Amino acid sequence: MIEKLVIANRGEIALRIQRACRELGVKTVALYSEADKDAKYVRLADESVCIGPAQANLSYLNIPAVIAAAEVTEATAIHPGYGFLAENADFAENVEESGFIFVGPRADSIRTMGDKVAAIRAMQAAGVPCVPGSDGSLDSNAERNLQLGEEIGYPVIIKAAGGGGGKGMRVVHAANELVSAIELTRAEAGASFGNDMVYMEKFLQRPRHVEIQVLADEHGNAIHLGDRDCSMQRRHQKVVEEAPAPGIPDELRSQIGERCAQACRDIGYRGAGTFEFLYQDGQFYFIEMNTRIQVEHPVTEMITGVDIVKQQLKIASGEKLAYRQEDIVLRGCAIECRINAEDPETFMPSPGKINRYHAPGGPGIRVDSHVYGGYTVPPYYDSMISKVIAHGNTRDEALARMKSALTEIVVDGIRTNTPLHQKIMQDPGFASGNFTIHYLENHLVKEPSK
Ligand code: ADP
Repeated sequence: MIEKLVIANRGEIALRIQRACRELGVKTVALYSEADKDAKYVRLADESVCIGPAQANLSYLNIPAVIAAAEVTEATAIHPGYGFLAENADFAENVEESGFIFVGPRADSIRTMGDKVAAIRAMQAAGVPCVPGSDGSLDSNAERNLQLGEEIGYPVIIKAAGGGGGKGMRVVHAANELVSAIELTRAEAGASFGNDMVYMEKFLQRPRHVEIQVLADEHGNAIHLGDRDCSMQRRHQKVVEEAPAPGIPDELRSQIGERCAQACRDIGYRGAGTFEFLYQDGQFYFIEMNTRIQVEHPVTEMITGVDIVKQQLKIASGEKLAYRQEDIVLRGCAIECRINAEDPETFMPSPGKINRYHAPGGPGIRVDSHVYGGYTVPPYYDSMISKVIAHGNTRDEALARMKSALTEIVVDGIRTNTPLHQKIMQDPGFASGNFTIHYLENHLVKEPSK
């Protein structure tokens, strides 16, 4: 087992990784920026190293500083968490070339999945269903592109191969908009992502976001841990997630899950990963793969009993997967609400000092959070301060527990989106379990007037 781990991240996930290490007897090194120096999880770690000022590009994104911290503390491995350097193939490569274990996939897997055109190619080859679209990237031949648009059928969506975070996409409703949309998206992609490759997909009009969690070791074993529904989104950002995805027949879930596990075996994938799909009319369409731990991993942990972070550490240590597919049984339902330090009406970030903090509790409730009374939420990073997860034997029970938990939580001193979560949990559309990725924005969120 890894002896000493550098946690190259902050906030709740830094604490989450630290907890897994403590269970496994792995020593921890917390890295922090000057803005996070007083965080309690930093003091809870066995050692800690300041890697730079508040700005992320000078600290959490500073590759030489992260590697130097691992060197001076004589750590043996680095866990990148999510965000920051987690999907940076050059970082993964650098970590391994410097003689450390990277807790994640091989750099070439990260590189392939970071290029959406290459990712789709790899998935098509592995038999994973993808959205009908162009075979690879588009060139500037207007005639050929128009013909492709006709074949796929409007509306279509033009996407940047290097895009991410919901950026670099443009929906095209008719042929007369196509050529200019391709060139515009290409120009934006070149400027924003340093890669002007774009491709075309059919635009699905009422899909759900359903994703599959996988685990793979470096001995060729891979399993899936079922699915999650993350359709409750605002501006392509997930707000509420749940497992299993409601209304998906078990047989279909197993089928798509096994396809993903097989794809992992085919491409020699290692570690935890997520296959993201759009799901419409009973069909799955692959859109991208995330090669890291995800914010919403706890809902899967609650229904499978598998500690995904501990598995990441074991896999990185070279162990064989301790689970076979038949060991994975889905029990009940779990829902997660992302509590953000933001105004519930305007969605403006609301950093500052938390005067009083009370976390909810009771049967089936889990709270993953690094905050406490007296903690100051810095303005420099993501606004998520807590994840409340409710598990129940049924979806109704999980929902009832979440409603109750949301009445208990107290975060005094700053504003949070708890009222929005209360509204979602009371909503008949959410209760039905049958909602598309547009539901939250169309029904529950009043966008602030500009
Ligand atoms: P990113 O990496 O920027 O998150 P994705 O490819 O995952 O990009 O797409 C982000 C979101 O954009 C999806 O969750 C979905 O809401 C929308 N989207 C992407 N592709 C399509 C498509 N073919 N049809 C409909 N919506 C799409």
